Amino acid sequence: MPEAPHGKDRFATRMSHAGRAGVKIHGFVNPGVHRGSTVLFPDCAARKAGAAKRYDQFLTYGTQGGPTHHALEDVICEIEGGSHCTILGTGLAAVAVPLLAWLKAGDHCLMPDSVYGPARTLADTLMKGWGIETTFYDPCVDEAGMAALIRPNTKVVYTESPGSHTFEVQDIPAIARAAHARGAKVLMDNTWGIHHFQPFRHGVDCSIQALTKYVGGHSDILLGSATVNSEEDHLTLRSTASILGQYASPDDCWLALRGVRTMAVRLKEQAEAGLRIARWLEAREEVKQVLHPALPSHPQHHLWQRDFTGTCSLFGVVLHPRYSQEQMTGVVDALRLFGIGASWGGFESLAIPTTGNLSRTAGTGDFGGPTFRIHIGLEAVEDLEADLAQALDGIMRN
Ligand SMILES: *Cc1c(COP(=O)(O)O)cnc(C)c1O
Repeated sequence: MPEAPHGKDRFATRMSHAGRAGVKIHGFVNPGVHRGSTVLFPDCAARKAGAAKRYDQFLTYGTQGGPTHHALEDVICEIEGGSHCTILGTGLAAVAVPLLAWLKAGDHCLMPDSVYGPARTLADTLMKGWGIETTFYDPCVDEAGMAALIRPNTKVVYTESPGSHTFEVQDIPAIARAAHARGAKVLMDNTWGIHHFQPFRHGVDCSIQALTKYVGGHSDILLGSATVNSEEDHLTLRSTASILGQYASPDDCWLALRGVRTMAVRLKEQAEAGLRIARWLEAREEVKQVLHPALPSHPQHHLWQRDFTGTCSLFGVVLHPRYSQEQMTGVVDALRLFGIGASWGGFESLAIPTTGNLSRTAGTGDFGGPTFRIHIGLEAVEDLEADLAQALDGIMRN
């Protein structure tokens, strides 16, 4: 495919064509599910050389992935605009492996206070035990603020934009400038942005995606990816994944490949419905604030406008402080079309009380009212609005 410009229409084209099987399997459109452990070598010398040359890749063992993994890696590189991708078994593995790849005992890591909860747990438990210190910072930090946080032993500045549950948009280019000037790598969880944020154009060194979300799109797989934009970073990342025995099922890769072919359409539909519902919620008198980066009322809307080309359908709803936590959970419980559960990005709508901000340590994340998170799926938007209306109408009964 020719180099495509930063455009939504071209994105749909690329998602239709990237990672196809082509002539490799008798002209069929899609790659097959290729399962395998042993890779056979033509002779012992070839094995010693460590290079069983198969099609265009070097393979020594199934843990390196096979044709199904590699097709998905090609597609994710296309989405992220990177040079090399490593597919991992879950989104969380895609968070953990880059952190372990670029940090060792005695190093310091910076993480936003709004980080995905399990990433915080990794920093507070295993990383801490291995002698890696982590400081949690205000996600809305500017360049000078970030520069002041970086120590001589800071090796990783971790970012996630927007933040989990509370949707703070980070100034990634400013953070990356401060980090690179002091020799630190910039890692980013780009799951919310998907293709709407091009990480390598904004200074990110390694971009993480939970493919479980919109790429999978059907709430039936767990999968992650870590993408980089240089051979050197790829070798660091891939060797760490390999040392740790990381692997993803080719069946799940195949489902992700199937999911990605319709992602542009699903995402467009869900994003539009999500924005419509976010605006509708913003006008409800029970609602204090809607935490959606694409709304002009969002505190970092200008950063979203500057750096993102679109939105997904995940956002937060803050109720007026006159309502209790119990009244908020009552609203979530009263919803009939929204499931209550973690994860997002599937075809079905979800709602869940926000608790991630309660365990923060840098004093951020208080939005002054009980908060819940919404994921808008592919149901008719009128039905979802009616469901939210009846749940909010009943708030005083809770
Ligand atoms: C869900 C999620 C992950 C982890 O993905 P899993 O596949 O569920 O492990 C990582 N980061 C963010 C922002 C997520 O929402």
